[in-house]
Amino acid sequence: MQHKVLIVEASKTSMQLMRSLITQAKLRPICTTSLVEAKHVFSSSAPEEYLCAVVDFNLPDAPNGEAIDFAIESFLPTIVVTDKLDEDTRTTILNKNVVDYIPKENAQVYEYLTRLLNRLDKNKKVGVLVVDESRASRHAMTALLRRQNFITFEAVNAEQGMASLHSNSNIKLAIIDEKMSGMSGLKLISELRKTYSQEDLGIIGISSNTTSGLSALFIKSGATDYLHKPYCHEEFFCRIMQNVERLENIETIRRVANSDYLTGLPNRRYFFTRVTASLKVTPKLQSLAIIDIDHFKKVNDTYGHDCGDYTLKELAKLVAEYFEDFTAARFGGEEFCVYFSNTAPKKVLQIMQGFREAIASKTLTFEKKSFACTVSIGLTHNSKGGINAMLRLADEHLYSAKNGGRNQVVSD
Ligand code: GH3
Ligand code: MG
Ligand code: MG
Repeated sequence: MQHKVLIVEASKTSMQLMRSLITQAKLRPICTTSLVEAKHVFSSSAPEEYLCAVVDFNLPDAPNGEAIDFAIESFLPTIVVTDKLDEDTRTTILNKNVVDYIPKENAQVYEYLTRLLNRLDKNKKVGVLVVDESRASRHAMTALLRRQNFITFEAVNAEQGMASLHSNSNIKLAIIDEKMSGMSGLKLISELRKTYSQEDLGIIGISSNTTSGLSALFIKSGATDYLHKPYCHEEFFCRIMQNVERLENIETIRRVANSDYLTGLPNRRYFFTRVTASLKVTPKLQSLAIIDIDHFKKVNDTYGHDCGDYTLKELAKLVAEYFEDFTAARFGGEEFCVYFSNTAPKKVLQIMQGFREAIASKTLTFEKKSFACTVSIGLTHNSKGGINAMLRLADEHLYSAKNGGRNQVVSD
């Protein structure tokens, strides 16, 4: 479902800009120009269809932020835009339960609005853990986090914090206070870093202590950021946003680095990393298969390179489906590799035979031309020499399968 964003804005230029930004963010702008109209439009639709509201502080029929109160009372995460920049207005806005406020005249802030809209949607899946022994302090932070749609977790000490992280894999960020009875925040952070890398978990150290050098100490212990208490809401949100975005960027880079551009399957690099790790932990019952398309060059030569690409993508889909519970990758060209652990050799052979038959009986259609293709498979269960030896053995068997007439599985 495409989420709606309720805009309450009297200025035509601002409205135009926001409408296009919201559309670009793949959201649906619902444009209203006054508080009365906003109330009318909102009452005639289902509240859960809305991601948030973007509201002008100053409207002809709501000159003092009354439209903000309406949006908040309607349980809409509310972003305020304003052309008033005085300290009083800013404080008034931030004291309301708003997600954030955006001063109008700076063009850069519209880019910030796009980021914010994006985040409100994505944050629904992001867990943030707050470890702080003060109840008031914890609640202040979780309330702010919930305004931005984060899933929140609380812990009063290091032990609870570790347990919470252990049982909730959606926690991407932990905010950890320095002063706690039992294990200190700094110690907790260095303990956590033994299990969670900087690429998997963001940690913001927080403290009201003014000791110089504490921020550096936090970073050296493994925190990715530091926040001083008391903090202003804006800084809190900016730091949270930056840390979560950093993790997402790493995730994107990881995904791109580990997947094959044409088919979207995991690539050779991913396969080596995964198999090497698995061979270390579970040395028993390992199998490795190399799947190679028969006479693939002919597909390219007869139907063209685009048809060759299409064939690879179709086969990759089948590989992904068929070997969902195992580690499969496009190894290069027209070769795929599958790695099995803790599966009996007889069962693996059965699976590979089943896959070979499924390919042989499939009809592919590209630009109205139908054709079929077959695969040859080399399979080994001997993992004594590690991954390279397994690949060599599987490749030898593949060679025999080709020589034996193709469309067959050869195993040791
Ligand atoms: P065999 O049965 O002995 O395996 O014969 P084959 O034709 O499949 O093997 P060969 O190694 O001679 O040719 C593989 C072909 O795969 C050559 C290459 O152009 C093609 N190929 C490799 N990668 C791609 C790709 O990404 N897209 C397309 N369309 N073709 C590719
Ligand atoms: Mg080949
Ligand atoms: Mg081939």
